[in-house]
Amino acid sequence: MSTPVLLPYLQSYSTSLQQQAGSLLQSGKLGQWLLQRHPQAHQMRSDKALHAYVMGLKGEHMRNSAGLAKVVYDSKLQLVYQALGIHVRTGKNHGGKTQSRHEIRIGSLFKHAPESFLRMIAVHELAHLRESDHNKAFYQLCEYMEPSYHQLELEVRLYLTWLDQGGHRLWQVAGDAADAAS
Ligand SMILES: [Zn+2]
Repeated sequence: MSTPVLLPYLQSYSTSLQQQAGSLLQSGKLGQWLLQRHPQAHQMRSDKALHAYVMGLKGEHMRNSAGLAKVVYDSKLQLVYQALGIHVRTGKNHGGKTQSRHEIRIGSLFKHAPESFLRMIAVHELAHLRESDHNKAFYQLCEYMEPSYHQLELEVRLYLTWLDQGGHRLWQVAGDAADAAS
């Protein structure tokens, strides 16, 4: 059986899952399915609100990890393949001691998204404060912070697939189209 649509965001999932997603997409029902599961958008639309939200999660689950110098939405983040958000670590030399500075940047597409999607991405980037690789310990940490982590990552990827295939933004508020053109 040939696969008619290419699903770059779902490459790491099984063939049967990709086929299911493909048929939901082709029937035009994927958007509706996502909206039914997540009817409401979150309100954390400014960098300030995002920062407070991420620091709240950090304080709850990762109090003893490294500090965060910056948490922002980034409209230049290209949402291709793996890059839902990024965690930047830069080393700064202070009198012989190297201090790392951590930043979290989240694709501005997620300004208009359900809170659970934002949480999945925030949890992913926070877990990178401890584990730089996507290894078993990394995903255990993600699941500790968000027990539905894997399901949410799949749904986020389904949403990106929907957009990639020409679907409209599902949680975009009317009259708030300023960053819709990116
Ligand atoms: Zn990562």
